[in-house]
Amino acid sequence: PVNRTPEMQEERLKLPILAEEQAIMEAVSENPIVIVCGETGSGKTTQVPQFLYEAGYSSEDSIIGVTEPRRVAAVAMSQRVAKEMNVSQRVVSYQIRYEGNMTEETRIKFMTDGVLLKEIQKDFLLLKYRVVIIDEAHERSVYTDILLGLLSRIVALRAKRHLPLKLLIMSATLRVEDFTQNQRLFTTPPPVIKVESRQFPVTVHFNKQTPLDDYSGECFRKVCKIHRMLPAGGILVFLTGQAEVHAFCRRLRKAFPTRGSRPQEKEEEKDSAEAMRKFKKSRTRARKAQAVALPQINLDNYSVLPVGEGDEDREAEMDEEEIVGSDLDLDLGDSEADGGEQPDVSLPLHVLPLYSLLAPEKQAQVFKPPPKGIRLCVVATNVAETSLTIPGIKYVVDCGKVKRRHYDRVTGVSSFRVTWVSQASADQRAGRAGRTEPGHCYRLYSSAVFGDFEQFPPPEITRRPVEDLILQMKALNIEKVINFPFPTPPSMEALIAAEDLLIALGALQAPPKEERMKQLQVSQLSCPITALGRTMATFPVAPRYAKMLALSWQHDCLPYTIAIVAAITVRELFEELDRPAASDEELTVLKGRRARVAQMKRTWAGQGASLKLGDLMVLLGAVGACEYAGCSPQFCQANGLRYKAMLEIRRLRGQLTTAVNAVCPEVGLFLDPKMQPPTESQVTYLRQIMAAGLGDHLARKVQSEELLDEKWRNAYKTPLLDDPVFIHPSSVLFRELPDFVVYQEIIETTKMYMKGVSAVEVQWIP
Ligand code: ADP
Ligand code: MG
Repeated sequence: PVNRTPEMQEERLKLPILAEEQAIMEAVSENPIVIVCGETGSGKTTQVPQFLYEAGYSSEDSIIGVTEPRRVAAVAMSQRVAKEMNVSQRVVSYQIRYEGNMTEETRIKFMTDGVLLKEIQKDFLLLKYRVVIIDEAHERSVYTDILLGLLSRIVALRAKRHLPLKLLIMSATLRVEDFTQNQRLFTTPPPVIKVESRQFPVTVHFNKQTPLDDYSGECFRKVCKIHRMLPAGGILVFLTGQAEVHAFCRRLRKAFPTRGSRPQEKEEEKDSAEAMRKFKKSRTRARKAQAVALPQINLDNYSVLPVGEGDEDREAEMDEEEIVGSDLDLDLGDSEADGGEQPDVSLPLHVLPLYSLLAPEKQAQVFKPPPKGIRLCVVATNVAETSLTIPGIKYVVDCGKVKRRHYDRVTGVSSFRVTWVSQASADQRAGRAGRTEPGHCYRLYSSAVFGDFEQFPPPEITRRPVEDLILQMKALNIEKVINFPFPTPPSMEALIAAEDLLIALGALQAPPKEERMKQLQVSQLSCPITALGRTMATFPVAPRYAKMLALSWQHDCLPYTIAIVAAITVRELFEELDRPAASDEELTVLKGRRARVAQMKRTWAGQGASLKLGDLMVLLGAVGACEYAGCSPQFCQANGLRYKAMLEIRRLRGQLTTAVNAVCPEVGLFLDPKMQPPTESQVTYLRQIMAAGLGDHLARKVQSEELLDEKWRNAYKTPLLDDPVFIHPSSVLFRELPDFVVYQEIIETTKMYMKGVSAVEVQWIP
């Protein structure tokens, strides 16, 4: 029995999915697998778990599990459902990569899809669950796809054991043929229950012309017009990245200031100004903090969880055009030409940003009603497209673009590209305007351009390297990966590249050469996993970094490798300081902070032997120093480190330490907050360890005597690329230019840049 408040009950009854409760529950009771389709906002995520709960599908030892592709959604939805059911988070809980709030009382558990995948490794039959709901299946995230493949088999195995498991697949679009028409996946096509959307009509307005580049400016003008001329109703703007969202918010707040309440942006600026003023103070404080006892980390609290979950957005958002040498300090936001008008105090606008990296409490702002009589305007990235429903939106302004990481299949070079969305995504975005009353969607591109969009976005599994998945699957004893019932299989090229890398890392057994050739000819990949591979698979990091961990037993290098690998995996340790400044004051602050970060990087990299470890030494130094200072927000602020990232690194270090101890208890590793810097010989070992994981990421400096073309000045040559690659200016080795380096990744912006660079010694045999 659920004791909902009358208000909550009333609100629920408005949701279209309530009309389908009976149909859904009947289908679930009669079928092992059911697909539920319904527009975003129809109530799938919040209501279906409650239906199942009320129908008795959970008990002390078999609960309802719900997977989300994004951490934001897993946390937000568990909170929402607990609130609707009027119970605490002890009953409706969540688990994401590093944290969770589950208890013995937990009956409904929201988690990221990666978390469930890792649980399958420990308990293939998922006996703890009575029902598994795969939410947002239309997003086709890699983990969702793999989970569906695995669950199709798990459901059958559980039926054989007379311990039936119910699987629900929920999708915001009707495009489910990849699930229903795929005989290998589900031999009997599961029934599809369609939730009639109570969507109000949305009038779509196309631009006559498509702006060539300045879509942000075009969006701004459109929002101003809507705000000035159209009746009340919230505005939702879709842009592509975090800095873009911020610049946009700043512009809007300037144009339509709210009286009384100080804009958030001001506070943020003030924060950073204060940070500089307090810089000296905080340094003293940091020193003092060293003397204070550090909190003990209980490693038992951290289970081993996989990599990568829900990270795609965050990366895409974080990446800002790194146009080296260009003057990013120009105020992009408020020039006259951009339609910057006099601030209009008579028309206040409640402007809120929304993107994945935004702190959760700030994200939650968008669900709260705006101040009375003030229009709400949410400026969002792709996150607002499907997983979160923002109340009260009547106008959508869609730039039609999305920022995605793009991998070159052959070279592995990645770039963040702003591309047109698919027609399906554009329609999703438009749909956000018709939740509460008829709405309008302004597309800043022409209908002809829309006609050229792809129909649907390609599933993620076809767009990225898959070595981590292949290793996980091999560890689950799925030897012939090619036979796995993928909803959409990755390309043969990607599978081969993944196996080749895993063979090179020693995770898979290399067949004799002729055998391998034969395998490739008949597209039959079936290399078995090695003992090393099994060990690597237990580490929740990418295979290359798992290999580094596996090599670090010797010479007490493990704590260092763990720190480096944790920092690499969390990504984006340093704050984004290459952003445009809104005022001279802010510019001064930014410049000061950039100089400070550059100086700290040099300090952390050290000299001589340690400098050769390069950017990886910087990571190690940053983690060590931050931990030494008690990982305080002040320390992070003063040194340009992202506090949230540093906390994540701490957790991941704990997790990796646990994982290492589990494999090899005699090491008896513990997380030492006062990690001493590595000795010179340890640095040498570390460089070898790093090179072993990044062996295929080797680059050679082009010597001046080989210089035929100016474009190769200071450039490096890699085996696979014809074009020059460069050390990224943010690297401590930018000016050092060692003869040979290994790199973590190559990102293409204006040029191809290597990031995460270390110097290596290579015997060059021409
Ligand atoms: P779906 O999963 O079908 O997209 P949801 O179950 O997420 O739909 O949302 C159903 C409704 O619940 C939304 O229309 C929204 O109004 C409301 N809702 C969801 N989350 C929240 C929240 N955190 N605060 C207030 N209302 C919410
Ligand atoms: Mg949902």
